[in-house]
Amino acid sequence: MTRQETIPFFAPDLFEADREVLLDLVRGIGTAAEQKFILGERTAAFEEALRATLGAADVVACSSGTSALTLVLTAMGVGPGDEVVVPAYGCAPLGNTVANLGAVPVLADIDPVTMVVDPAEVESAITGRTKAVMPAHMFSVMADMPRMRDIARRHGVRLVEDSAVAQGGMLDGRPAGTWGEAGVFSFVQVKTFGTAGEGGAVVTEDPELACLVRSLRNHGQEGQRFRHQRVGCNSRFDEVQAAFLLHRLPGFPERLERRARIADYYTERFTPLLERGVVPPPPGRNGRCFYVYSLLADERDALKEHLAAHGVASHVYYPLPLPHQPAFARFAPRGRRWPHAVAASRRQLAIPVNPHLTDAETEHIADTVCAFAEGRRST
Ligand SMILES: *Cc1c(COP(=O)(O)O)cnc(C)c1O
Repeated sequence: MTRQETIPFFAPDLFEADREVLLDLVRGIGTAAEQKFILGERTAAFEEALRATLGAADVVACSSGTSALTLVLTAMGVGPGDEVVVPAYGCAPLGNTVANLGAVPVLADIDPVTMVVDPAEVESAITGRTKAVMPAHMFSVMADMPRMRDIARRHGVRLVEDSAVAQGGMLDGRPAGTWGEAGVFSFVQVKTFGTAGEGGAVVTEDPELACLVRSLRNHGQEGQRFRHQRVGCNSRFDEVQAAFLLHRLPGFPERLERRARIADYYTERFTPLLERGVVPPPPGRNGRCFYVYSLLADERDALKEHLAAHGVASHVYYPLPLPHQPAFARFAPRGRRWPHAVAASRRQLAIPVNPHLTDAETEHIADTVCAFAEGRRST
């Protein structure tokens, strides 16, 4: 099968069916008498609806996933002199949020296959200055949260779950976001429950933490307006986004199921390629998440080119591990090595798994990956 057009990585038509709804919401909220655009009844209703799907005690909506992490770390009192153990391989917010509070992100190496942070590495990175550990679910696999909880409990440190990519994921029957003392979600367009803009949420069963986060997201106010209990920030939530996400929430399980089925299909097709230099995520759905579908390939760049030549867009997450990024060089002690994070940055490749892919497209993507691996077998 040859293709004229490239299969996009993220669906450009993700909100096509909701176009009229979005316009009506903008018009309705924009022209309503109360002129309430932030933190109104729609935000409260969205928080409650999301909370109900999780069985969690509280959900606090805020301006982004990054801001959600910052609010949680701030509420936990993370600041100068503190250390927070984070994965050495992952997105910039893992380092930024900690560093921007004046604390030190301590970078722990990952598992070579699942690419999530290695619990043994997390544990050995804990010192007397460690305030929290912050594992992140990565790409297709959730972090080992039972072990993270055990480590946090034994060492008396706080546990923040970066579940920004894992909304809808389940591990041992428990939803992503509810494993840590606090978890976070991101509603940026491309995430599993993305919206037509920005947004995030904090999930927690700790009422004190929830109360602090609610106050911090709106300039440290608590109860009364213009009474500032503490130094906060602006991380408020938009009413149009809240209403749009409320509208999109009932369809979320179905879209997630579509992603999961595509991932199941890929894993079935790619597991036989293990001996041929292409490694899929482990099979099954327990502890899987479906933000992107992530492969490890010995000849990653050649596979990426092969896919492009056959009309398949793919992404590298991430070309450099955090300690090799100039931004985080000062948190990479001399002589320290992160061999698995380095290997992942050379081998990782994500292929499309968005719910708008057709069966013919997923088949074409799988065929293209298989043809590449088959072709390499003889070399
Ligand atoms: C997307 C993401 C974030 C940040 O979310 P934003 O809403 O983009 O700020 C944090 N952590 C991880 C692992 C992410 O993938």
